[in-house]
Amino acid sequence: MQPFAYERASDQAEAVRRAAEPGAQFIAGGTDLMQLMKDDVTRPARVIDIESLPLDFIEADGNGLRIGALARMADVADHAAVAQDYPVIAQALLASASPQVRNMATIGGNLLQRTRCTYFRDTASACNKREPGTGCSAREGLNRMHAILGGSAACVATHASDLAVALLALDAEIELVGPQGAREMTLADFHLLPGDTPERETQLLPGELITSVRVPAATLARRSLYLKVRDRASFEFALASAAVALAIEGGTIRDARIAAGGVGTKPWRLPAVEKVLIGAPAKPESFRAASAEASAGAQPLSHNGFKLPLLQNTVERALVTLGEQA
Ligand code: SF4
Repeated sequence: MQPFAYERASDQAEAVRRAAEPGAQFIAGGTDLMQLMKDDVTRPARVIDIESLPLDFIEADGNGLRIGALARMADVADHAAVAQDYPVIAQALLASASPQVRNMATIGGNLLQRTRCTYFRDTASACNKREPGTGCSAREGLNRMHAILGGSAACVATHASDLAVALLALDAEIELVGPQGAREMTLADFHLLPGDTPERETQLLPGELITSVRVPAATLARRSLYLKVRDRASFEFALASAAVALAIEGGTIRDARIAAGGVGTKPWRLPAVEKVLIGAPAKPESFRAASAEASAGAQPLSHNGFKLPLLQNTVERALVTLGEQA
């Protein structure tokens, strides 16, 4: 690990000011950043500790849910209102990482975690995301875990967060503060496609900090579910996952929100699936027909063609399971 300076911010303004200086990076739970620093993948000159900022709140009322960026994953998953009114969020969190990591890792950090592409984390390999212009080892290498949606010639790494998939399905927004002041945007806009600049993964500007995540109130959030398919049952990233939410009235699907993980270079919304579902009877045949649209536009690599049927089957199983719930 490269030597670095450690600084603790006592308030938000100080955190933003310190982090805007070259070579600085925020640290909170540190579960991803410390690993990247130990592997020499990330080399901040200074880390700005923001753990003492008052951003660990979880608030739920008639307007929706608001989660501070420093709330721990475990605390959000265990929160009664989250578990009852936004089950897809609680389930996505509980399907993430390990209990030890969830006790440390924060909501903001989860949304900013770096890809698990093994070449990105191996400094001996060419990787455009780690070192722009060096090439992409995964394109012609081992790409079983990589993206089938949203890839570019420069990068095909998947986004690793389960939580982001659940939040995307519920139309979440994030609140930011930076040297230019506060702003907010949809989570859908926050994460970027790799294009020619895979090193740039979000809209965050230098010194900008996620302060909270907001989920608008929606009755369909109560009937929601997260299903994750992976190589082992714990402490593993998704091969494919589905976050689904349905509003069903009189046996008809009135509204549907569907997003996928483990398959896209960013959390991936599936509007074609939603379109088939809305107005259809809440029956297995409808779920099957809609799921067939899940991999529309997918471009598999040499080792991950299996993700096309896997994604369709994951979405279908999630819909059938949710449709059977009272
Ligand atoms: Fe790097 Fe992206 Fe290629 Fe992985 S897929 S080696 S992260 S450029």
